Amino acid sequence: MSSATEKHAAQYLKRFMSGLERRNPGEPEFHQAVREVAKDIVPYLEDKQAYKDAHILDRMTEPDRVIVFRVCWVDDENNVRVNRGMRVQFNNAIGPYKGGLRFHKNVTLSVLKFLGFEQVFKNSLTTLPMGGAKGGANFNPHGKSNGEVMRFCQAFMTELSRHIGPYTDIPAGDIGVGAREVSYLFGQYKRLQNEFTGTITGKGLAFGGSLIRTEATGYGCVYFAREMLATRGDEIRGKTCVVSGAGNVAQYTAEKLLQLGGKVVTMSDSSGYIYDKDGLDEEKLHWLIGLKTVRRGRIHEYAEYFGCEFHEGKRPWDVPCDMAFPCATQNEIDTADAKDLVANGCSLVAEGANMPSSIEAIDVFQDAKILYAPAKASNAGGVAVSGLEQTQNAMRLSWTREEVDENLLDIMQKIHAACVEHGREGDWINYARGANVAGFLKVADAMLAYGVL
Ligand code: NDP
Repeated sequence: MSSATEKHAAQYLKRFMSGLERRNPGEPEFHQAVREVAKDIVPYLEDKQAYKDAHILDRMTEPDRVIVFRVCWVDDENNVRVNRGMRVQFNNAIGPYKGGLRFHKNVTLSVLKFLGFEQVFKNSLTTLPMGGAKGGANFNPHGKSNGEVMRFCQAFMTELSRHIGPYTDIPAGDIGVGAREVSYLFGQYKRLQNEFTGTITGKGLAFGGSLIRTEATGYGCVYFAREMLATRGDEIRGKTCVVSGAGNVAQYTAEKLLQLGGKVVTMSDSSGYIYDKDGLDEEKLHWLIGLKTVRRGRIHEYAEYFGCEFHEGKRPWDVPCDMAFPCATQNEIDTADAKDLVANGCSLVAEGANMPSSIEAIDVFQDAKILYAPAKASNAGGVAVSGLEQTQNAMRLSWTREEVDENLLDIMQKIHAACVEHGREGDWINYARGANVAGFLKVADAMLAYGVL
């Protein structure tokens, strides 16, 4: 690219972002997610007049619609409680809206818009026909009884059910929405609609769920890391791995790393992280999964039970490692964390969580030319298997574990290949750019074909 074109792209990016920030005040996470994409797409579009004339990027950064609703329920002490439910239906150019539901005290419209926007690109990368959406509520499931969670989920679905359907919008889980919540949500949807369709994914195996869905995001993330290592003739066996989070994504990232010979030394939750110098093994991981999904305990209990270090209120990024897998939440790696990782020898970061690295942290990884996989590529395995769950529901049959796992691996390899195709810069691969361009193209081409909508 000539320096004049580069200058023009930089000026356009500045104008574009200031317009977006003005139109969406007080939404820092959404601004961040768009900036991360726009810094690659704006220069890419410099010589592509058709996309520019159709204002595709402006249209892709405006959600199709946002639904906001009141959720009223009664707690165990008979108090009336009020939460805010939301669904951001971002873009359905290439398929029905698809994306998870998050129940967390910090859920805001900004968070759901960033997640919905990312989901559009991620779903496009999976090669499956899925649009992007995200939803949730500022409801904190921590410390709530099963009855309270059930009543909240039923109240939430009573309104959401008007806006979703197997050909319209198919929600799934995310932070705070696991197997228990998905079951309550699906049960209520089925009751209200009087129909049994695969409108929610992540369902239990007894009622339309897919094998491997629980494991898919974590497994897919490790499959992606394995592909990246292979470009350097390297492998997972023997590598020391730092994992954050202790929820669904972290658990199955750790499991696959162990299966492939990696050494996992940390896990975390919002209270801090454990550092197990000897590494987790299958038995310890099984215990941790029980702690988190059945007993719903805190991570320090692992340290007490197995006798290892617990670092209260801290994140694990200063622990020396070969590879890092952030699997907890957004913006959990800042510039200083990224510098610590690189200085301590980390040569691969694969994002399991959505947007766990700040834009400046990504710059640190890219300047150091380490292998860096952005979430929209490396954590797409979850939604990919959700797509396969929809296919099985529509066909009214269930595939075997091996069949689904094979499909998952195939999809992760295709995503990797697309990132390499669009992200190669000399002998280095800019996976972030590759994922942004590859994800953009399919959606943009569909939007161009529809005319002005
Ligand atoms: P879970 O609710 O199962 O687990 C979330 C984990 O992250 C918990 O250990 C939680 O700790 C921790 N966490 C949450 N908020 C914070 C915080 N502010 N600081 C530190 N730790 C925190 O969620 P998932 O594993 O499903 O999701 C994790 C990430 O992966 C999210 O970014 C999600 O969007 C992304 N993702 C999930 C997919 C899926 O299939 N589930 C698919 C693609 C992406 P605590 O229990 O203390 O809150």
